[in-house]
Amino acid sequence: MNRYSVVLFASLVVVWPSVASSGGSLQLGAITKRAQQLRGLQITEEDEQRLGEAVSERIRERYGVVQDPKVHKYVTLVGAVLAEASSRPHLPWRFIVLDTDGVNALAAPGGYIHITRGALSLIRSEAELAGVLGHEIEHVTEKHTMKAIQKSKALQMGADETLAGNSALFSRLVDRASEMVMAGFGRGEELEADRNGVVLAAEAGYAPTGLGALLRTIMDRNQGASEKQGLFASHPEMQERLDKLDATIRSKKLDAPATLEARYAKHITYEPVPPGAVATVTEGAAGLTGGGSGKAADESEKEAEKTEEAPKKKRFGLSALRAPSLGGEKKSAEVTGSGASRGVDRERDAKGGSNPAPVEVTVTAADLTAFKQEGQLP
Ligand SMILES: [Zn+2]
Repeated sequence: MNRYSVVLFASLVVVWPSVASSGGSLQLGAITKRAQQLRGLQITEEDEQRLGEAVSERIRERYGVVQDPKVHKYVTLVGAVLAEASSRPHLPWRFIVLDTDGVNALAAPGGYIHITRGALSLIRSEAELAGVLGHEIEHVTEKHTMKAIQKSKALQMGADETLAGNSALFSRLVDRASEMVMAGFGRGEELEADRNGVVLAAEAGYAPTGLGALLRTIMDRNQGASEKQGLFASHPEMQERLDKLDATIRSKKLDAPATLEARYAKHITYEPVPPGAVATVTEGAAGLTGGGSGKAADESEKEAEKTEEAPKKKRFGLSALRAPSLGGEKKSAEVTGSGASRGVDRERDAKGGSNPAPVEVTVTAADLTAFKQEGQLP
């Protein structure tokens, strides 16, 4: 935790120390600089949208998009049922199916929810899909990435700056947000997204056991892979997650009934690819960011931040509990400290498709009503 984070939304407050007694113009200069830094990052909802769009673009470029409107429409309908019941129903929610066998789901700020073809291939019911989408939606509604960005010391700006007027800062913000989204969130945020997500799914009418069922499937899948075995065997957080999901279901008496296996199977027919057969890209530890200007300085700031945050951030994401990387496929290998220590992960490094174009689908109010009626959702 850095000391600036507490004043991020506050107006500038300068506590003026007794400069005169210790004297010196150098010190005065330092105080002025500090006062500017204290201003912190002010982010509007419009900024959040722009940022989410840019992060989504990075993700789409890395993994490609399944160019199938029918699949997108179905996933969007399930997502819309949940988004409508969420605390931010009016965001322009988008549900994007990524063209990779890697198993993952990623939420970018502003309502950009991504799920991989590989994840869809493991899901066995609409309730499981609702479970994972509900979890990702909660990362957005709880503004997990935005809050983390606002705490980031590397992303403070000067007193007179706005995000809209500073393209270099915006670009750094996109780099940092992309990295955060791909790395997964900390334990607290993940547990919060699990808890709220399962409540959201149930409120939308889906059996609340969906997310836990999918996590168990993923755990089983990874136990078959020697590289993952150690990780999962020594990862009490997964069991903690499952226990807490069960506890939430019990304590909140969540008992919505819809599982809708048949409807899911009708729309999604992907076959799972065993972890050992997932094609990966040889990217070394290539950049998490999209590059751009001021990279070197930016990297060192990020490294400083990582070191600072390392002890409290045990990352664990949805799928592999490991951090995927962005942009690696198109970049030359570039081994950095953080990347190198992250090691190989098949889901993260899974090869993606080549077409990043979003697939536009339209879901009308009538579509949504019909979809809910057909599934006997409230
Ligand atoms: Zn998550």
